[in-house]
Amino acid sequence: MYTRVQEHLQKELAAIREAGLYKNERVIVSPQGADIKVSTGQEVLNFCANNYLGLSNNPKLVKAAKEALDTHGYGMSSVRFICGTQDLHKKLEQKVADFFGTEDTILYAACFDSNGGVFEPLFLEEDAIISDSLNHASIIDGVRLSKAVRYRYNNADMADLEEQLKLAQAQRFRIIVTDGVFSMDGNVAPMDKIVELANKYDAMVMVDECHSAGVVGKTGRGVTELFNVRGKVEIITGTLGKAFGGAIGGFTTGKKEVIELLRQRSRPYLFSNSIPPLVAAAGIKMFEMMDETHELQDKLHTNTDYFVGKMKAAGFDLKPTKSAICAVMLYDAKLSQDFAAKLLAEGIYVIGFYYPVVAKGQARIRVQLSAAHEIAHLDKAVAAFTKVGKELGVIK
Ligand SMILES: *Cc1c(COP(=O)(O)O)cnc(C)c1O
Repeated sequence: MYTRVQEHLQKELAAIREAGLYKNERVIVSPQGADIKVSTGQEVLNFCANNYLGLSNNPKLVKAAKEALDTHGYGMSSVRFICGTQDLHKKLEQKVADFFGTEDTILYAACFDSNGGVFEPLFLEEDAIISDSLNHASIIDGVRLSKAVRYRYNNADMADLEEQLKLAQAQRFRIIVTDGVFSMDGNVAPMDKIVELANKYDAMVMVDECHSAGVVGKTGRGVTELFNVRGKVEIITGTLGKAFGGAIGGFTTGKKEVIELLRQRSRPYLFSNSIPPLVAAAGIKMFEMMDETHELQDKLHTNTDYFVGKMKAAGFDLKPTKSAICAVMLYDAKLSQDFAAKLLAEGIYVIGFYYPVVAKGQARIRVQLSAAHEIAHLDKAVAAFTKVGKELGVIK
C-alpha cells in the first residue's frame, strides 16, 4: 500500500516545490534575539520573530525557569485534571487574569489549542459564531469543530459585521470573534465599535490577543486597553509563545463560568499534557515584570515609530500599522522573494509573504519590531532596505 501513497506524496511535494511554495527552514544556532547566528555561520539582525518584547532570552526568565527545574522537576506526565496541576499552574492562571482584568483563566499547551477548544463546548446548533475573514487558522479550525451556524464578515468591516449580526438574530446565542492584531497587515480590530455592535445586537465578544498582548496599548494589555474596553469582552485567548517570552503555552481568560465549563469540556485541555513547570514559572516571572514597569512596551513603541518614519521617508509603501508589525508592500511575489534574499545578504533577516498567505498581487515583506532592537539595528535595516530598494527599482 505505502508504495502508492509514497508516489502520491512525492507528486504532492513536487507540486509544492514547482509552485514555489515549499517552506525551507533556516537553522539558528544561537538563542533567539535581535542578533542571531544561523547554521551557515552568518550573523544577521532578526526582524521576523514574534519576540516583540525581547524576552525570548531574558536572563530573569531563564533564571526563573532554571530554579523551577530544581523545585518542581521537568515534566508533569499528566493532563491537568488527573495529576498535572501544580501550584505554578494555578498561580500563572491568576497572573493572566490579573493582567487582562478578567475573572479566571485556563491554560493550554498552545493558543492553537485554546482556539481549537473554545467553541465546541460553548456553542451548539442553535448558536451563531460571527468571525472576521482574516482570523487566524486556529480560530477557523476551532469554529469548524463547533456545530454553531457560521457567519463571516470582511476584515474589520463594521458595516459588514452589522449585516451579519442582523442575519444572526435567528440564533439563540451569538459571539463575534476577532484577532486583536491581524498578523499580515499589522492593523487592529476596532474593539470599541465591535463592543458597541455586540451590545446593540445582543452578542458576546471574543478576541485573540496573540499578536497584541504585551504589545498594543500603553501598558501592553492588548487591544482591550487600546480601545478602552477592558472588562467588556467575555473571552480573550492568547499565547506565551510570542511577546510573553516566546516559549510555549496558550490561555483562555474571561468570564468565570466560561472558564469553568472549558475545564469540564474543552477537549485540548482534557486530553493533552500540562505545560512544563519551568514554562509556568517563567510565565509568572514575566507577568511580575509586566506589573513592575512598561518600559519594554515604551521601547517597542518608540522603535516601531522610528522604523516606520524612516521607511516612509525613504519612499517605501507601508500598510498603516497599529502594532509592531510593519508590512512593506512590494505587490509582486517574485520581487518579495528577491528582496528578502538580498536583505539577508546585507545581514537583515525578514520574510517575504505572497499568495496564498496574503491576497494575490499583495506580496510584501513583513518586518516585526522588537524591544530587543537598538536604534543602530533599525538604522542598519533601513539602510539595507534603501540600498536593495534602489537596486530593485522599488524606490528612487
Ligand atoms: C500565533 C497565533 C496563534 C497560535 O499560538 P500558539 O501558542 O503558537 O499556538 C493563535 N492565534 C493567533 C492570532 C496567532 O497569531
